[in-house]
Amino acid sequence: MNFTDLNLIEPIAKAIQEQGYTTPTPIQERSIPEILNGRDFLGCAQTGTGKTAAFAIPILQNLSKNKTPNKNIKALILTPTRELAIQIEENIKAYGKYLPLKELVIFGGVKQGSQETALRRGVDILVATPGRLLDFIAQGIVSLKNLEIFVLDEADRMLDMGFVHDVKRIIKLLPQRRQTLFFSATMPSEIQKLADSILNNPIKVEVTPVSSTAETIKQSVYFVEKDDKLDLLTHILQNDISDSVLVFSRTKHGADKIARKLQASKISTEAIHGNKSQNARQNALNNFKSGKTRVLVATDIAARGIDIDELKYVVNFELSDVSETYVHRIGRTGRAGSEGSSISFVDGLDLLNLKNTEKLIGMKIPIVKDHPFHTDNLVAQKRDSNNKPAGARTPRPSQTSNTKKKPAVDAGKKPKNKSFFRKK
Ligand code: AMP
Repeated sequence: MNFTDLNLIEPIAKAIQEQGYTTPTPIQERSIPEILNGRDFLGCAQTGTGKTAAFAIPILQNLSKNKTPNKNIKALILTPTRELAIQIEENIKAYGKYLPLKELVIFGGVKQGSQETALRRGVDILVATPGRLLDFIAQGIVSLKNLEIFVLDEADRMLDMGFVHDVKRIIKLLPQRRQTLFFSATMPSEIQKLADSILNNPIKVEVTPVSSTAETIKQSVYFVEKDDKLDLLTHILQNDISDSVLVFSRTKHGADKIARKLQASKISTEAIHGNKSQNARQNALNNFKSGKTRVLVATDIAARGIDIDELKYVVNFELSDVSETYVHRIGRTGRAGSEGSSISFVDGLDLLNLKNTEKLIGMKIPIVKDHPFHTDNLVAQKRDSNNKPAGARTPRPSQTSNTKKKPAVDAGKKPKNKSFFRKK
């Protein structure tokens, strides 16, 4: 199938062609005709499948056909993070560049002045994160009473990030008669329930099986003691990988620490996380996209929606307790059919998460032993909220000065089984 088979109006066809798209992705092939026909849509699709265009293109076409000249918000796209929101708006702007529709992105963490001015001038398509949208609604700056199309994007991530109540509050404010498009990479039961409650006889499209990982991504695990992880990362970046790398860190503090260590080893690195200003995050992202910085260290929240064409490597410095996060993370690479690799560092604290992740994706991730920090002696441990072994005391400064830090493990305990989860 070609885009020319989809009956797109000339201004959109032209804009898409300028983007270099010729063939619709599988989700676009299914979604575009159905959404154009006014159907509700449930897309179970991981990032990198072209899902933004899958909803943005038919929304633009529907709105441009029905356009009545007024200041009402006609389409709302609700998405969990600022980065993703910005990216969606950029895509809408690109696909709609030959149409007279106005789009706007709003998100928190920045002053509301310019967003408010733009809203008062009138917006057709609003891309928003939940918190800022509710703020504007409470102030009477945004009204959704004339909304025609509602898109809930990355619904599972909304749940992970604790936004689901905000989302439900927003849904209550929408007109009953509307078209609803729902996208989620995974379908945990709470998300399924939410989908059932807001969709009306939807077309369901699952582009990849739930929780599957893109086949083009080469996945590997490196067994390493916690205290050797920074050295292992430096080693890999200096010896094995010459490309750009996106590194995921569980915590903001951890992201900064990784960035400092790599910078000290003369590897150009920046970190993005929620404590950085929106401008600093956007600059770091632009530097990474343009190749000015080679390594970007990001927390999951900050990395959401990062769209970098041809990103070849993702490193998981730790594995998340939420197994679905692994699918999201490695989905940053291997996009649109290109090849990618994901490397996961696993210490004793990550072993349980590795087991759960492998269960979710339905495969064992191969272990790479050919590196100087490999260990067969990991002992599975629980992690507390500070990324430390549960029950471990934080040493007083006097205890740490001039002493090489011991591995943060229960040092007295001998590993019962050398390869903990991998009996051969
Ligand atoms: P998404 O899943 O929306 O994040 O899109 C992933 C990437 O694929 C983005 O860089 C899009 O610009 C790109 N893309 C989307 N649709 C197409 C298409 N039909 N042909 C080529 N690239 C596409």
